[in-house]
Amino acid sequence: MKKKVLVVGAGPGGLSAAMILAHRGFEVTVVEKADRVGGRNSEIRLGDYSFDAGPTFLHQKFTLDEIFGEAGRESSDYLDFVKLDPMTRLSWSDGRFIESSANEETMARNVARSFPGNEGGYRRFMEDHAAKLRAVYPILQKPYHKWSSYLRKELLKCLPYVATTKSVVDVLDQYFDDDRLKLAFTFQAKYLGMSPWRCPALFTILSYTEYKYGIYHVQGGLCKISQAMAKVAQEDGAQIRLSAPVRELNFAGKKVTGVTLEGGEVLEADHVVMNADYAHAMVHLLNGRSRPSDEMAGKKFSCSAFMLYLGLDKIYADEPHHHILFADDYERNVREIQSETMISDDMSIYVRNSSVTDPTVAPRGHSQLYLLVPTINVRNGHDWEATQQEYRDRIIDRVVERTGMKDLRDHIVEEKILSPAGWRDDYRIFLGATFNLAHTMDQMLYFRPHNRMKGYDNLYLVGGGTHPGSGLPTIYESGRISSNLLCEAAGKEFSRVDLAPALLGS
Ligand SMILES: Cc1cc2nc3c(=O)[nH]c(=O)nc-3n(C[C@H](O)[C@H](O)[C@H](O)COP(=O)(O)OP(=O)(O)OC[C@H]3O[C@@H](n4cnc5c(N)ncnc54)[C@H](O)[C@@H]3O)c2cc1C
Repeated sequence: MKKKVLVVGAGPGGLSAAMILAHRGFEVTVVEKADRVGGRNSEIRLGDYSFDAGPTFLHQKFTLDEIFGEAGRESSDYLDFVKLDPMTRLSWSDGRFIESSANEETMARNVARSFPGNEGGYRRFMEDHAAKLRAVYPILQKPYHKWSSYLRKELLKCLPYVATTKSVVDVLDQYFDDDRLKLAFTFQAKYLGMSPWRCPALFTILSYTEYKYGIYHVQGGLCKISQAMAKVAQEDGAQIRLSAPVRELNFAGKKVTGVTLEGGEVLEADHVVMNADYAHAMVHLLNGRSRPSDEMAGKKFSCSAFMLYLGLDKIYADEPHHHILFADDYERNVREIQSETMISDDMSIYVRNSSVTDPTVAPRGHSQLYLLVPTINVRNGHDWEATQQEYRDRIIDRVVERTGMKDLRDHIVEEKILSPAGWRDDYRIFLGATFNLAHTMDQMLYFRPHNRMKGYDNLYLVGGGTHPGSGLPTIYESGRISSNLLCEAAGKEFSRVDLAPALLGS
């Protein structure tokens, strides 16, 4: 008889586990509280416009390809990828800008044009980081639920990169002499919701990965990835139950026996994989074993994001696909966000204008715009309901001032605001901390919630709250790590699909 696996949540973490485990012969049921799959990576529909709720940059695509490979599939049979070049325009209020590219010659030229004299630093950065990624990558693929994991030879090899008090900015000081250019190599810390001045030095691999291997759009939006993963899991027999919120997990000693849905239905399982936001789940879903909210709030959490999704009756064809408008004083902006108390007047804005690449997300001749402003999580109790309209107006003012979209206001025909309070209430994210537990060294590897949850025999965690951390590729990896642990416990053999070594070189 097939062993039963229940996956709580159909976000990227839950779906990667579901597709791997269904393919390996488990009877998989995914229970998702929302009426669609994807979680933070789901689709938001406003009239005839389609938006990605969250992720818009697919980097380290080879990890996604590996996950499809683990399920015996090719990702390109399910998804229409577009490698972006240029990737992102990064601009400052003094009019300076740079366009990033994964083509090394183009990027060196762009650096030389916008920040003369720094092109040598760029080439050194790329060279040094090839070795750094080779050293670090293997530790992101293994579980860290035992102290003995620290004795692995892979970890010893990358100790110089991990065991340092340096930050991402400290590392970049060694390569570039212009603070603005350094920012072009730090903004990727946004996937972690962290300040580059505090983010551990290890994470310069994020910008390297992006500049080396490129970033991808998926036609229809990145939400199509989750939809494709769900399809693969279903093709292999998984059942996906939408609008099926879990009220609580059920336990017998150190074993989880299944879940009870909010409607009272009890589902039994041999193994449970938890994809709901880690801190939310620990506080709300563990039955008599839940942890007090105050205790959980004692951990460090990421920032949040204030979102505007706009349907427009025109296309700004000359505006880039991805555009980051840095705050006038970016360091202060980041400091205010990290304080968890100040909402910056001088905000940074990420503008995504994917209609210039993708005609499928809006009606013909129309477009959609996604604006993301990193801001504080809800720890300090700010009243977003009362202030969100005014904040929205200030964001639009800045976009009009700093881009070519001068008549933006006249062309908005659909609109949705999602504030940090919305992330907390509608997406059930603890403190509305959209990028999960912070990625400080005291909350990583062994110190991050384990892939097999401590204290339980058959409860596994996937998603940004467990190892290796937030961001799509790492979240997919968490699904694979936890699936492998589950298979080992169930005595199920499996082989591993490894596309990365050939790409990373030796
Ligand atoms: C605005 C934003 C932009 C981002 N941009 C990027 C980007 O460009 N690139 C990148 O790599 N990463 C990005 N990220 C980070 C990260 O990749 C995504 O947040 C990712 O979707 C998180 O996946 P997850 O599986 O951890 O959680 P989620 O996507 O939140 O999935 C958890 C699922 O569990 C469900 N659930 C919760 N409670 C219950 C319950 N009681 N019963 C049943 N189901 C439940 C939820 O409904 C949800 O579907 C971004 C995140 C945000 C928020």
